[in-house]
Amino acid sequence: MSDVVIVGGGMVGLSLSLMLAQANIRVKLLEAIQYPNTEESSLDSYHSNFDARNSALSRRSVSIYQELGLWDRLKNYATPILEVDITEEGGFGHAKLLAQEEKVESFGSVIENAWLGRVLLNQVRQHDLIELIDGIKVTALHQTRQSATLTAEKDGKQYVFDSQVVIAADGRDSFCRKAVGIGADVHDYDQVALVTTVQTSQPHQHVGFERFSPLGPLALLPLHGHNRRSVVWPVKKGTEAEWLGEDNDQHFLKALQHTYGQRAGIFEKTAPRFAYPLSQVLAHRQVAGRVVLMGNAAHTIHPVAGQGFNLCLRDAHVLVRYLSQQHIKNADLGQSEVLLRYEQARLKDQKRVIQFCDSVVKGFSNQHPILRLARNAGLIAFDRIPGIKPLVASYAMGLKA
Ligand SMILES: Cc1cc2nc3c(=O)[nH]c(=O)nc-3n(C[C@H](O)[C@H](O)[C@H](O)COP(=O)(O)OP(=O)(O)OC[C@H]3O[C@@H](n4cnc5c(N)ncnc54)[C@H](O)[C@@H]3O)c2cc1C
Repeated sequence: MSDVVIVGGGMVGLSLSLMLAQANIRVKLLEAIQYPNTEESSLDSYHSNFDARNSALSRRSVSIYQELGLWDRLKNYATPILEVDITEEGGFGHAKLLAQEEKVESFGSVIENAWLGRVLLNQVRQHDLIELIDGIKVTALHQTRQSATLTAEKDGKQYVFDSQVVIAADGRDSFCRKAVGIGADVHDYDQVALVTTVQTSQPHQHVGFERFSPLGPLALLPLHGHNRRSVVWPVKKGTEAEWLGEDNDQHFLKALQHTYGQRAGIFEKTAPRFAYPLSQVLAHRQVAGRVVLMGNAAHTIHPVAGQGFNLCLRDAHVLVRYLSQQHIKNADLGQSEVLLRYEQARLKDQKRVIQFCDSVVKGFSNQHPILRLARNAGLIAFDRIPGIKPLVASYAMGLKA
């Protein structure tokens, strides 16, 4: 019987397996998609797990990867954020957060998912305590008082895995969540996020912009290379075809220019755009017997403030602490009281992040003149009232839970 089986080898499953292995816990990691062969020398090959997106990693997430001994490699394609600039298109409000003022080296770093995934995967492949099986799909999950049993299919054959605990990191539509009878509240934002990389005439100087536009809140983040920037632009579902495809490159660049003015200089080039449907999916519970939900399977949130993956990493880090205490005592890792204590310990941080992201999306989507006025006054207040910025900055950096 395995100590832990993780279902889902996305960024959360891979990171979690490395944290568990560091605590000397033996892990089996099952991933439905066959991974490509990855060299760390380039970013060339595309894989749906480590796609065109970039992740804004908070300071806390960076420190988690430092603890894992991975940051020296990850930072090759990570760019620190030294300033955050928040405005609304056509509005008068303006707020700025400066790392120097908050007396921190940076607010965090933006990393290319393709690189993050590659480094994580290579590390997982080399670790003696992790057995990675890819191209295998979990099709059933049962539990008894003594163990949890997964059935999975690979190349037409069935496999059965017994373990003390199953960690379901199998994404927004989690099979495992349904298999253990945990329901979820689903809210469709009726938006898709357009994601791409652009080149601007002005160097990014490590500034991240958040600009609220009538089309949606547009994030422009600094990337590796002095004038490359990551774009995340949520637009109304159904309108994405207007922006996708090579034929629409110029149209897309013009729209960015119109929304941003000259803040970033001229938008010169764009990579292909990818579209991600946006919804909030919140599991009713995160523990059922010996099964724990993790990552998007537990809570999928809007990417407006770049908090989703950061939150998942903090969850994973705390879960490993609880499991490691059990492991040291040679006790059952799947003891449900322990797993429930983990869930309880994480609720406050999760609730705060989920509410914050949801309220930013809803608060900035209404174009009523009075609400616009209130929002812009709010941005000015945020910029000027002493004490607010350090608090918000420390939450955004993942340093306050
Ligand atoms: C546009 C966008 C931008 C974002 N930007 C940021 C950001 O800047 N900062 C941040 O913190 N977060 C960000 N996020 C959120 C972040 O991407 C997610 O939190 C993260 O990807 C969740 O990863 P996961 O591993 O839980 O899920 P997934 O990536 O969905 O992985 C689930 C894995 O499980 C596998 N799987 C599913 N079913 C089975 C099965 N039955 N058997 C075996 N395997 C299975 C799948 O193949 C998949 O590999 C962003 C999200 C979006 C949409």
